[in-house]
Amino acid sequence: MGVDGVYARTALYAHVVERLESYITRQRDPTAEIMRFPPVMSRKQLEKSGYLKSFPNLLGCVCALHGSEASIRSAVDRYDNGGDWTSSVTSSDLVLSPAACYPVYPIVATRGQLPAGGLQFDIEADVFRHEPSRSLDRLQSFRMREFVRIGSPQVIVEFRESWMAKAPLLAADLSLPFTIDVANDPFFGRVGQVMAVSQRQQALKFELLIPYYPSAPPTACMSFNYHREYFGQVWSIHDDKGELAHTSCVAFGIDRLTVALFAIHGLDLEKWPAVTKAALGL
Ligand code: 5GP
Ligand code: ZN
Repeated sequence: MGVDGVYARTALYAHVVERLESYITRQRDPTAEIMRFPPVMSRKQLEKSGYLKSFPNLLGCVCALHGSEASIRSAVDRYDNGGDWTSSVTSSDLVLSPAACYPVYPIVATRGQLPAGGLQFDIEADVFRHEPSRSLDRLQSFRMREFVRIGSPQVIVEFRESWMAKAPLLAADLSLPFTIDVANDPFFGRVGQVMAVSQRQQALKFELLIPYYPSAPPTACMSFNYHREYFGQVWSIHDDKGELAHTSCVAFGIDRLTVALFAIHGLDLEKWPAVTKAALGL
């Protein structure tokens, strides 16, 4: 669409996204609460979530012309005269959501103590990360679906383990070659390198990786994240025993999975493997 890493979707692509989404829906726990978020979220909430400490380089902030009619007019006039209107913008209350699950924790916090057994969510948002690239697997704007679990530590560990056991079955349904490996988030800067090592040592993040063609470096298409009590602490979420809640999320990179399907099975859906067509209801 004129900017690296930002794409319009064709009807064929959107059709596969829709079939993939309904396949994922069928994997959802029946008790999960469904929430769909817009592509923007509260700047204050994201700041409080610690995002600026970890990934300030990836964040997109919504800016606008906030001034008087005269000052807004002068910014537009500047543009009309070949100048830069954006030097007059200032930040608004919004940022572009960098991951789907951030807004759910403050919502849960407003409900008070968790019920026994904790909570489970099915969440989706179009997210933004400022990393322009010409690679088809590195978009600036992409769709993220997440299953999020909030509860006591044991419930959370079980949730993540069960999803990591289930992931190979999903990949088999979709006939996608894969590996699962421990991973780290791309924490910013030198301090970030220490955080990344610690995340790996504690095995807090795993990824399902798919090579788009034989011998290609594999692309992370799903992630399995254990945040321990991080969000519980930030938002004061407590389980039914009064302990700090632990949280985990399983993220499906909808665009990466869809591109993987096309890259590996081709553009003609008729020719896709029977098992894949059956799983996706094609
Ligand atoms: P994470 O929060 O683990 O970095 O991201 C969750 C999932 O979003 C990843 O497993 C991946 O599938 C997807 N994702 C992350 N970064 C990108 C990106 O730059 N482009 C696309 N298309 N998907 C991404
Ligand atoms: Zn998440």
